[in-house]
Amino acid sequence: MDGSVTAMTTEVIVVGGGAIGLAIADRLAERGDRVVLVDAQLPGQASWAGSGALALIMPQLASPPLRELARHSSKRWPDFAADLQERSGVGIERRNTGLLRLVYSPSTQDSVRSTGEWLTAAGVPSELLDASQIAALAPLAADPARTALYQAELWQLRPPRLLRALQAALSAHSSATVRRARVGALLQTASRVRGVRLICGEKLYADEVVIAAGAWSGELLAAVLGRPLPVRPVKGEVVCLDAADVPGGTGGPLLLGETNIYLVPRSDGRVLAGSTFDDVGFSARTTAAGLQHILRGALVMAPGLADASMTAAWAGLRPGTPDGLPYVGRIPGLDGLIIATGHFRDGLLLTPGTADIVASILHGETVGIDLCAYRPDRPVPRDSTVDAIWHSRSG
Ligand SMILES: Cc1cc2nc3c(=O)[nH]c(=O)nc-3n(C[C@H](O)[C@H](O)[C@H](O)COP(=O)(O)OP(=O)(O)OC[C@H]3O[C@@H](n4cnc5c(N)ncnc54)[C@H](O)[C@@H]3O)c2cc1C
Repeated sequence: MDGSVTAMTTEVIVVGGGAIGLAIADRLAERGDRVVLVDAQLPGQASWAGSGALALIMPQLASPPLRELARHSSKRWPDFAADLQERSGVGIERRNTGLLRLVYSPSTQDSVRSTGEWLTAAGVPSELLDASQIAALAPLAADPARTALYQAELWQLRPPRLLRALQAALSAHSSATVRRARVGALLQTASRVRGVRLICGEKLYADEVVIAAGAWSGELLAAVLGRPLPVRPVKGEVVCLDAADVPGGTGGPLLLGETNIYLVPRSDGRVLAGSTFDDVGFSARTTAAGLQHILRGALVMAPGLADASMTAAWAGLRPGTPDGLPYVGRIPGLDGLIIATGHFRDGLLLTPGTADIVASILHGETVGIDLCAYRPDRPVPRDSTVDAIWHSRSG
């Protein structure tokens, strides 16, 4: 053994304190497991930066397994939110705002119409609105030359509140501990992961280690897997505007523009505008070009925002995978390890479903969904469509 050793034996160590890791730790503690959650508070955490839509924004472009996991998790959201708010005492502001896909150039008419047909076939009601209906529903996007596809059901929440609620719920369990530290490596003997080594040298031991370290998971797993897990950070920038004095700037549906820029009007008069997709490593800086791209799209959608103050801007690192699907499950032949990462641009939506699945795997129970497509040992597609996936979808 090297370095200082702390003889601390716990049942489960969860690495990563974003929405995925927190929800897993909370779920396990609820079930009576002893849990240590280790989080390094790295800049660029995706969960805090997310815009909070609890639906696939472009379901017609998602693969069937992603839609399946989204369906599975969506069904859990109402109970998950109610239970979390009750136990934590923190309101997460989950509300149904609907989604308006705006059309302002003739070339987009057809694709929005076919999105509507796709949604209808999938059992999701939507309707085409004319300019006067848009003006009544979303004055922020009013323009006499517009049409839009309106989807009345789309839930969203405020991600920082979700994190606060999960942290409070987790801390309330006497069997749970939270460590602010960075894990440097996994401890392994033969075919079993035994725990983690923190970068300060301290070792923590457990029966099971869950890796939920978002975009950073790949590097942590490289040594035990013998190859890097292909999770890549995909930076998304967000601009926050104060639109309290702008007509329609308070509340209303999530607005999606033709260039995949979206606006999220909050009930307090703040409007979030996002986002970008940048493959720039672990840099979580906002940039002039990123903000220009977002603001240009935002002002086409809502010219009334031109005078709004910009109150903040931030960036988060989405954990992207080559096929756009998360990695959830065990690695055959390697005991004591469960992976839950790669949720890309849908991790908030997929949080309750992922937490349930990990808890079931850990307790050897069957899961009501076929997990094959999410296996962490699945082959990396040769002709990776990753760039197409990343650049064709907003989020
Ligand atoms: C701009 C933007 C908009 C988005 N919008 C939406 C949306 O509307 N709806 C939706 O569902 N999803 C959305 N997402 C995606 C969603 O935010 C992510 O999929 C999700 O948050 C991933 O959660 P996570 O817990 O896996 O990762 P993260 O939230 O990134 O958390 C990973 C955690 O691991 C910790 N960590 C990493 N390495 C270590 C280590 N070695 N030791 C200890 N701790 C470590 C980090 O400190 C971090 O806290 C958006 C993302 C962005 C960036």
